[in-house]
Amino acid sequence: MSVLFLAEHQQDNYKKSAFEAATFSKKLAEKLGTTAIGVVVGKMNNAGSLGKYGADKVIHIQSNQEVSFDSQVYTEAIAAAANQSSAKVIILAHSSTGKALGGRLSAKLKAGLVSGVNALPDTDGGFKARKSVFSGKAQGIYNITSDQKILTLTGNAVKPVRSENEASVETLDVALPPARISVKEVKTVQGIVPLPEAEIVVSAGRGMKDPGNWGIIEELAATLGATTACSRPVADADWRPHHEHVGQTGIAIRPNLYFAIGISGAIQHLAGVNTSKVIVVINKDPEAPFFKAADYGVVGDLFEVVPKLNEALKAFKAAQ
Ligand SMILES: Cc1cc2nc3c(=O)[nH]c(=O)nc-3n(C[C@H](O)[C@H](O)[C@H](O)COP(=O)(O)OP(=O)(O)OC[C@H]3O[C@@H](n4cnc5c(N)ncnc54)[C@H](O)[C@@H]3O)c2cc1C
Repeated sequence: MSVLFLAEHQQDNYKKSAFEAATFSKKLAEKLGTTAIGVVVGKMNNAGSLGKYGADKVIHIQSNQEVSFDSQVYTEAIAAAANQSSAKVIILAHSSTGKALGGRLSAKLKAGLVSGVNALPDTDGGFKARKSVFSGKAQGIYNITSDQKILTLTGNAVKPVRSENEASVETLDVALPPARISVKEVKTVQGIVPLPEAEIVVSAGRGMKDPGNWGIIEELAATLGATTACSRPVADADWRPHHEHVGQTGIAIRPNLYFAIGISGAIQHLAGVNTSKVIVVINKDPEAPFFKAADYGVVGDLFEVVPKLNEALKAFKAAQ
């Protein structure tokens, strides 16, 4: 018996979600009295470094090439690793990869699936997984009764815990089916932490009035080392790129700090951000719904408040 987790990686580097899955799996494995095993698919040097975040062992399904993501191929790979490690629980990140795999893997293994969990399951007398429901207004508790169980883990729900351990690496040969998807080109935004991994997010909405006004948002984000995001109408109007759109129909995020600037706080926007640990709202309308979800609020004109906040933060950093 084990807790198996998929460690996502890119160009020989583990993604932050892999470290979160490792730490989460280790804690769950300790509760269940078993081991946490990572599975890595494709070319990856230094696969054993996952041990630093909790993996007791790594199963490496090797390839000399980068293996493009094809959910059918990956499902076979993870099912083989689950079989090899007698996995009772499989942890995936709640990323586009994890979401694409969860359903397929659940059907293949006849395993109950809860997607988007944000806390360790309660394992006393059952296996109860917890996730946000109704746009973050409530917590749903799901008792999984199947023999094998699958969870996808919300980003930033767990802080990776680092140690000096190194995991042993075991190679697994699996006859994988040929991929039916071929990736022609990968364009990666350089130098910016992807939104689901970002610890600080500076987000702005229609209150910005014009795409040419975004300089103050980018400057604030640069000062804070934050990633920028936006509301849906802003992305729909092509004021900002679509990958910045957060909310019910955009990306759901859970940063440690979320700035909502000139965003009203419609329920569809809140659905993707209201589990952020600290929310700061800047809006000129004191009745804006976002203030109800805010930890800190500034009622004021963003064109005055944001530059002043940025100057104050820069002065604070300079004095450190
Ligand atoms: C099915 C469905 C799905 C949707 N999914 C999403 C989603 O995923 N994400 C999303 O964001 N929306 C989504 N929406 C749209 C959502 O309902 C809102 O329309 C949208 O979030 C509003 O965007 P906004 O707050 O930027 O704009 P507005 O509602 O226009 O709000 C602008 C805010 O800026 C403030 N403001 C204006 N000027 C200033 C100033 N100078 N200084 C300070 N504050 C100022 C105003 O007081 C106001 O509160 C969805 C809608 C539907 C129907």
